[in-house]
Amino acid sequence: MKYIRSVNGPIAENAYIVYDELSKIAGIIDPGFIELSELADKIEEYQLNLKYIINTHGHWDHIKNNYFIKSKYNCLVLIHKQDEHFIQKPENMNTYYFDGEILPVKADDYLIDGEEIAFGKSLLKILHTPGHTRGSVILYNDELAFTGDTLFYGSIGRCDFPTGNKDVMIDTLEKIKRVLPANAIILPGHGVQESRFQEELVTNPFLTGKMKPR
Ligand SMILES: [Zn+2]
Ligand SMILES: [Zn+2]
Repeated sequence: MKYIRSVNGPIAENAYIVYDELSKIAGIIDPGFIELSELADKIEEYQLNLKYIINTHGHWDHIKNNYFIKSKYNCLVLIHKQDEHFIQKPENMNTYYFDGEILPVKADDYLIDGEEIAFGKSLLKILHTPGHTRGSVILYNDELAFTGDTLFYGSIGRCDFPTGNKDVMIDTLEKIKRVLPANAIILPGHGVQESRFQEELVTNPFLTGKMKPR
């Protein structure tokens, strides 16, 4: 599976176009503020068939362009059920750092812990990782892990927004340690430094236990 990172918006959110090289089936993970022209250029350049919009969670910086991309490409919007309220009623988020308009969309399907999203023969597995929000997920395979705002390079997401919970995050971090493949490249929702999970396990203070979620 290949990925293309695109950094956009007022708080530098990472959108990722992911695709299977053979079938050209593609998805976009967290299409916050990515320019539609940039997305169209990549789709044309790599001859992609954009099938999915995947939200790691429902915060505005990750979902803003859901509506426009779904309208243009008629792709399926996927999110965990417990974060669906964010995309159905984005105006509920206007209290935290963004007061622009976001058009609502419905989920076409839910991201369920332990299930997989198929891109031809490539797969992304779904790991439910509540803590930053109740419906946060990580999408991963043996090579890549799209960690949203759950796990960053050397850090983790904050737990003090609505539906966040630092005690739940402690359990999530233990789950992540059990499940994520050591060799997977960590591809978070913010920040462009790259690391493999095995490096995070020994350097990330929230994974080593030196620091606690807050
Ligand atoms: Zn977030
Ligand atoms: Zn974010």
